[in-house]
Amino acid sequence: MTSPRSASLVLKRPELLRTQNFIGGAWLPALDGALLPVSNPADGKDFIEVADSSAADAKAATDAASAALPAWKARSPRERAQLLKRWHKLVLDNVDDLAQIISQEQGKPLYEARGEVGYGASYIEWFAEEAVRSYGDIIPDLIPGKRMTAVKEAVGVVAAITPWNFPLAMIARKFAPALAAGCTVVAKPAEDTPLTALALVRLAEEAGFPAGVLNIVSASRAHTPAVVDSWLADSRVRKITFTGSTPVGKHLARESAGTLKKLSLELGGNAPFIVFDDADLDLAVDGLMAAKFRNGGQTCVCPNRVYVQDAVYEAFAAKLAARVAALAVGPATWSESRIGPMINARAVDKIDRHVQDAVQRGAVKLAGGERLRNEIADGPFYYAPTVLGDADEHMELFAEETFGPVVPLFRFKDEAEAIRKANDTPFGLAAYFYARDAARIWRVSGQLETGIVGINEGAIASEAAPFGGVKESGYGREGSRHGLDDYMHIKYMCQGGL
Ligand code: NAD
Repeated sequence: MTSPRSASLVLKRPELLRTQNFIGGAWLPALDGALLPVSNPADGKDFIEVADSSAADAKAATDAASAALPAWKARSPRERAQLLKRWHKLVLDNVDDLAQIISQEQGKPLYEARGEVGYGASYIEWFAEEAVRSYGDIIPDLIPGKRMTAVKEAVGVVAAITPWNFPLAMIARKFAPALAAGCTVVAKPAEDTPLTALALVRLAEEAGFPAGVLNIVSASRAHTPAVVDSWLADSRVRKITFTGSTPVGKHLARESAGTLKKLSLELGGNAPFIVFDDADLDLAVDGLMAAKFRNGGQTCVCPNRVYVQDAVYEAFAAKLAARVAALAVGPATWSESRIGPMINARAVDKIDRHVQDAVQRGAVKLAGGERLRNEIADGPFYYAPTVLGDADEHMELFAEETFGPVVPLFRFKDEAEAIRKANDTPFGLAAYFYARDAARIWRVSGQLETGIVGINEGAIASEAAPFGGVKESGYGREGSRHGLDDYMHIKYMCQGGL
């Protein structure tokens, strides 16, 4: 294993820092020996190398998952649940080390990284509990002499592909229901953040999951298509579960058609956040701060377009700008930090492009609005938390997810206009609105074209709730009982001769 050069990573259990693939119960280098450097977004410097896998490694993972499937599927749900519970405990026991690894490779402040560990672990616990409740149906006898039943069965080998923004939670949200359902898994974490996923798998190994039940290979952006294409073409892989951008999601949908795999696609969003004139403005500002600035604005359910009704626009903008200007920006290791560095140069360039474009087209900077570098935020990927007033639909940030700490404020006159504008996007993941009038709350919730609606609430994610989108934000749900069903198919059995 390459030793980390960064002084800031001091783990109680250094063996959690893995750099090899986990295939068939063994830690292995890429078959061709290729390596992928991993950097710390706080300084942009590489600090470790992990395996850069190829199609051959991906196939070895599928071989292992396929071989392990019959025995794993045949275990009782309770046995599978016991292993998940052991894994859940190990994740919580190692929260400090996991949080450090997340912060080191992803950049989020340590307190947020600890929160992510708890959030990811909650899915493992939830699906351990759901595993024993995947009930089927006994169908009333319509035809004398026949008994009809429907049971749920694991779909088979699942391939999981995850993004960098929640490197632990996104893997946990996929592995936990898959394993609970009786599926075996092959996975590829995002190229920017492989270490957290590898550490999580190391803890699963410790929990005692049988060899081949979970397998993971890391790969660079350049090698990723070969790895994923190997799974897309392989008829033994029966499901693809993906969180990431809409263009890659569409590619996966197209390419999995050859073997007609089941798909769960959690894709990009462009969330509206609407503040009506009857809203509690302080509550709305709190909700927006929570929903927008978590993870530096790099969250698929982050509000991307904030609509404020004319009568409360000035008051809301002033309250918000004061709060945003006070946000502390700095590295994960700084205890005051509320906003860390962006993940990489591509991300910070896109944020700056959106802000410059908006300002050129008439937006007014109410807070931030530029790259940031100072004695504390001393790296290339920091961006000042930003509020832009007088945004409109001709700006790039209207149509495209900014994925950074930038709030554009749009004005609106009435409810019909707010709903029309909120729905004026191909995406449909989350929407938020603040209002007091009960009739308005029902009307607006019913008309928003999204999979998730936050009503007077900015923190919406929960392991107990179905998370997912409509339109080009994808399909499938993670969390809740629906999250388990997505990893199962229904088998109908008809017995005659009774
Ligand atoms: P991305 O689509 O570039 O990458 C996601 C994953 O796909 C990574 O593992 C990457 O290596 C892989 N990938 C990239 N190119 C691929 C290819 N050609 N074939 C197969 N796999 C490929 O997205 P990102 O930039 O890492 O993540 C940000 C996006 O993810 C945003 O659009 C965000 O909204 C979305 N997201 C959605 C959710 C959700 O639950 N809906 C959650 C988090 C992030």
